[in-house]
Amino acid sequence: MSGLPLQELSEQVGTHIKKVQPVSGGDINQAYRLETPDGKLFLKANTFPEGKSMLASEQRGLQEIQKSGCILSPKVIWRGTINDYSFLLLEFIEEREKVGNFWENFARELDCLHSNSRDAHGFDSDNYIGTLNQINNPDPSWVSFFRDQRLRVQIKMGLDKGLINSEEAKRFEKLLNSLQDILPETTPALLHGDLWAGNFLSAGENAVLIDPACYYGSPEIDLAMAKLFGGFSNSFFDSYGEMSPRPPGLSERISIYQLYYLLVHLNLFGRSYWSQIKRIIDRYQ
Ligand code: ADP
Repeated sequence: MSGLPLQELSEQVGTHIKKVQPVSGGDINQAYRLETPDGKLFLKANTFPEGKSMLASEQRGLQEIQKSGCILSPKVIWRGTINDYSFLLLEFIEEREKVGNFWENFARELDCLHSNSRDAHGFDSDNYIGTLNQINNPDPSWVSFFRDQRLRVQIKMGLDKGLINSEEAKRFEKLLNSLQDILPETTPALLHGDLWAGNFLSAGENAVLIDPACYYGSPEIDLAMAKLFGGFSNSFFDSYGEMSPRPPGLSERISIYQLYYLLVHLNLFGRSYWSQIKRIIDRYQ
């Protein structure tokens, strides 16, 4: 029914796939719930050219999060290709209602994730934000990493796609040139990297992180994304702030970090994101 090569997949994974049910909600991959004699599994599948590399990046990110031992994320059961398909097979997470101290626990576990550090910002491989490439060359300076490997890359992409004109790009330059006066240097922190409300599931009292775009950078990046589109309780931000007080000027930095995600949305989905972007860069003209 799904057109999936289920026989070959069963053989590769070493289990019998009894039932396959599509799961809705994903915007990039096809998603399925598999029933096997060992329990349920979650399968991501795609057939587009970059798909294999995207699933490999997702696996790499999930493994980095798991290595931290700080916060739940689905275990990777198997990754591979069969015929035209690339697959990522994960532990199936049963969604539950958020109960007890869910948001406080989530904040504490995210703070723990952020306490994992490295010598440089970036990661050991490039990855993806949505379907866009995200470069992660190690850089000991957070300001130059964020300016050159995050904002500049997206601005150039917007120019190339005709979504930003050269006048608008010039306005960005003013902001880019003053970033070193606005952003402090920080210790590299392990980030989820794409922490919107669709990228965690509830296991009851604890959050389960899915779909990471991991790298090491300022922990405020995850806070900025969590604040951008809603879906996180105030008690999440309050608890995080109590555990890990931020230097003064957080709200200004949050806006600057949100620019990255807004530019990504502009490049993925079009000009409707421009007014939000403009409101931020107008402050720096
Ligand atoms: P995409 O890569 O296309 O963005 P998602 O990772 O968002 O796909 O997955 C699609 C949907 O499947 C999500 O909305 C989520 O509800 C659900 N989901 C994701 N991972 C799991 C999992 N490990 N177990 C159960 N459900 C999951």
